[in-house]
Amino acid sequence: MYQVAFYGKGGIGKSTMAANISVALAGKGIRVMQIGCDPKHDSTRLLLGGRVQTTVLDYVREVQIGKRKIEDVMMKGTSGILCIEAGGPEPGIGCAGRGILTAFDTLKKLGTDDLGVDMKIYDVLGDVVCGGFAVPLRGEYADGIVLVTSGEFMSLYAANNIMKGLSNFDTGRPRLVGIILNSRGVDGEEETVRRFAEAAGTKIIAVIPRHRLFFEAESSGHTVREMFPDTKLSEMIDAVAQHIIDVRDGKIRASFPRPLDDDQMSDLAAGREIRRGTCIGAPRFGCTACNPRISIKESKIMSSCAAYGAVAAYLKMNDVAVVLHGPLSCAYLMDTARAKAVLELYAGGIYSTVPNHNLRCTMMDDGSSIFGGVGNLERTLRDTVKEGYMKIAVVTTCMPGIIGDDSLTVINRVIGDNPGVGIDYIPADGDVNGEFTDGFIMAVEKITEMMDLSLERERGTVNIIGSSFFDIHSVRHLKEMGKLFSAFGLKENCRFLDETSSEAVAGFCRGHIDMMVNDSAATIEMASVIESKTGRRVLSVPLPVGLHDYVEWARQMGEIMGMEKEAEREIERAESDHREFIETHSHRFRGRKIIVMNRASQNIDWLIDMLIGLGADICRVGCVPSPRKSGSRSASRHLGITTLDYDTDELRRDLDYMDPDLLIGEFTGPVGNRCRIARVGKVGIGVLPTEEYVEYLENIMRLPREEGWKEGVKI
Ligand code: SF4
Repeated sequence: MYQVAFYGKGGIGKSTMAANISVALAGKGIRVMQIGCDPKHDSTRLLLGGRVQTTVLDYVREVQIGKRKIEDVMMKGTSGILCIEAGGPEPGIGCAGRGILTAFDTLKKLGTDDLGVDMKIYDVLGDVVCGGFAVPLRGEYADGIVLVTSGEFMSLYAANNIMKGLSNFDTGRPRLVGIILNSRGVDGEEETVRRFAEAAGTKIIAVIPRHRLFFEAESSGHTVREMFPDTKLSEMIDAVAQHIIDVRDGKIRASFPRPLDDDQMSDLAAGREIRRGTCIGAPRFGCTACNPRISIKESKIMSSCAAYGAVAAYLKMNDVAVVLHGPLSCAYLMDTARAKAVLELYAGGIYSTVPNHNLRCTMMDDGSSIFGGVGNLERTLRDTVKEGYMKIAVVTTCMPGIIGDDSLTVINRVIGDNPGVGIDYIPADGDVNGEFTDGFIMAVEKITEMMDLSLERERGTVNIIGSSFFDIHSVRHLKEMGKLFSAFGLKENCRFLDETSSEAVAGFCRGHIDMMVNDSAATIEMASVIESKTGRRVLSVPLPVGLHDYVEWARQMGEIMGMEKEAEREIERAESDHREFIETHSHRFRGRKIIVMNRASQNIDWLIDMLIGLGADICRVGCVPSPRKSGSRSASRHLGITTLDYDTDELRRDLDYMDPDLLIGEFTGPVGNRCRIARVGKVGIGVLPTEEYVEYLENIMRLPREEGWKEGVKI
C-alpha cells in the first residue's frame, strides 16, 4: 500500500484536489481510501455526493473501545473510494492536533490496513504545524507528500512550514512528490511558485486554473473528474494521479525538501533572486555538521516538574484539597513520590497527624485532551466543594497547559456559586513552567497570601522557613533544635512549609523572628517571597550546622533577645566542648589525605571546618554545581580551596594521582576499589550532629583501605 498526504493552507483547495485525484486514481484501477484530517470534516463530501458521515473522534467519544467497528466511521463513496473523516473539537477548545493522533491510532486499531486498499490519501490542514497535524508526515503514514498552494505569500509560507515539518520526520528516503499550483489568478503566480519550488528542491507537478467547472461540480456535491470526465481539467487531474503512481512505482523520483529560511522567503516575496540558504530543516541522516549528538550526560536532568512542586507545597497544608488538573498517571506519580517522602516520617513519629492526602485528579484522558478538559475540572471542583473543603488549590499539568484549557473561568464560576470557598490557581502546566522548585515557589507565592499581616509579633516566637525540613526530620534533630531554642527562650510559631494548616499560615506574622532552616537556594527564594509579601526581614543566618555557624547564630539570638551575656557564655561552652572533641579524635585524621566531592552543592562548610580542625590533608574539595544552588555555593567560606564544576572524570584522575585515604561525597554510582568511601548528606542542626558525623568517618577510617567485594567495580 502506498500512502500520500496532501498538505496545504486552509481554504487553498486541497480537499478539492485530493477528492478529484482519488477519483482519477480509482479510474486507473487503484483501490483508494481518502481520510480527511481537517476538524471541519468536509474532505470526503464530494466523494459522498454531499452526504455527511460520523467522524472518528465523535465516534471515539461516544463508543467504548471494545464496541468500535470500522464500518461505523467509513462510507463507500463514488468509484468505490472508502471515505473517512478524522474530525476534531470545536474551534478554540481542546487540541485538534492531539485529535489527529488519536484518530490515526484508532483507525490503525480498527484495521484500516487490512482492507486491501492500494492507496491511502490523507487530506491534511497545513496551517497548523503542531506535532499532531504533522502525524501524517511521519514515515509510517506518508510515503509521499503533495503540497497544494497558490502563488499568494501566506500559502507559500504554509507550504514552506510543511517542508520544515517533513524535514523533522526525515526517513532517509525522498518523499516530496511535488507541488500542485491551484491558481488564484494573482500576478506572476506561476513564476513565483516556480521560483519557490526550485529553491526548495522540488517541482510543480500541475498548474490547475481557476475554473467554473469546479464550482458547478461542487455545488452538486461531486468532483470535476466525475462530472466532467472528458475535459482538459480532468486530463490535468489524471496526469497528477499518474505522476503519483509513477513515484510509487519508482519511475519518477521524489525529492528531499529544502525549506527556505527567513531571508530566502523575503527574497521570494520581494521578487529578488533567492539567495543560497542555510540548512534550517531538521538534520538529515548523514549530515553531521548540523546533526550534533546530544547525550543525556550533557543535558540537565530535571528533578521533577513544576506541577509536582506546586502539589508538594499545597499537600503540606492539612486542610487544603489539591485538585490536579491532568491525567491520573501524573497524580499517581506525584502521590507515590509524596508518600515515599512523608510516610516514613509519620511512621517514625515525626509527624503527629497523618500527612495530608487530599489529592484529587480531574483524570483527563485522550478524549479530554482533544475536546478540552474544563468539564472534568468543573466536575471535580464541585465534588470537592461538596465534600466540605473550603480551601482548594488547582494545579495544572502539561496536558491542559498544552491544549490551552481555560481553567480560570471554571474556577471563578465555582467560586461564584460557592461563597466562602477559596480556590487558588497555580498554572504550573506540568513542566512547561519549569521544574519542581519553580512550581513550589509559585505555590508559596499564593500560600503567603493567606498570612494575616495585621497580627502583632509575640516575643520569642520563631517562624522557620524552608522548602525541605529534612534537616530536622528526626526525633534526635528535633531534640537538638529544642536545646538551641531553649538556651534563648525561643519557641516555634509556624513552620513554613512543613506539615501545617491554613490557620497556622494565617498566624505567621505573630512570629517574632523569621529564620531559614538552611541556606539552600530554594529556601532563600522562599524567604525573599515572604519578605516581599509581608515587609518582614528574614534572618540571613539559617539554623546553624557546625560550630562556626552556631557561634554566629547564638550571637544574633543574644542580640535579638537582649541576652548577649548568656550568648557569650553559651559560645564559650560550645567552643570548649568542641576543642575537647577535636583533641580526642584528631589522631585518626591528622595528615590523612581526603577528597571531598560535593555533588549537590549543598553547604558543607561545617565539614571542611571540621576536617581542617582535625588536621586532615584535604587534597581536593570538588563541587558539582546545580544551577539553582549557585547562590548558596558562592556563599561558601571555603571557595578559595574549592574546585568548581568538578566532575567524575576529574575525580577519577585525582584518585589515580592523589591516592587518598578517604573519599567523602554524594555519589550516584560506585567509585571503585580505590579508597575508603563515606557519604555526606543532611546531618541535622547544631554542633552535636556534626561531631557524630565525624565519629562515623572515624569508623570508616578504621576499615581496611581495600575491600574485596569491590573488586572490579568501576567508576
Ligand atoms: S511533567 Fe507533565 S506529564 Fe510529567 S508528571 Fe509532570 S505534569 Fe505529568
